[in-house]
Amino acid sequence: MTFTSPDIPDHEGFAAPVLPTGESAPSAAAFTKTFVGHQAACSCGWTDRRRFPATPEGAKETEYRWWSRHAAPLIAAAPPGELVARSNLLCERITGLAAERPLAALALLSQVESWQRTLLDQAVARARENGASWAQIGEAMGISKQSAHERFRAQVSS
Ligand SMILES: [Zn+2]
Repeated sequence: MTFTSPDIPDHEGFAAPVLPTGESAPSAAAFTKTFVGHQAACSCGWTDRRRFPATPEGAKETEYRWWSRHAAPLIAAAPPGELVARSNLLCERITGLAAERPLAALALLSQVESWQRTLLDQAVARARENGASWAQIGEAMGISKQSAHERFRAQVSS
């Protein structure tokens, strides 16, 4: 049994069996009857430190640990997959429009730019209110923390 979320499709959590040597087996597929416990793990290589008993309840505990320790922080920083798909579609459609009717594309892009700037400022302000660092904001936007700070410090206090 694996744990998944559509917002982080590259991560598949599972209860990794802990071998008698203390090592955790690399994947659920490597399941062995000689395991002595369970440990939450993920297909990305993340492994929880805490170990649970080699019982169905212990395996269930690892699901909660995967969610709380690994998936939840990733999901907090990951845009919903559905919105990413819509954003990609909008970009693709405007690219096509720009090729056929560039003036129409300009009108639409100007409209997008006006609400995009407002939403960006609001999201940065909200992230700062929630305790996000400039490094985290920069990482979310794919820019350096210095660039993020220089770009938004005027709109957001400190
Ligand atoms: Zn992962």
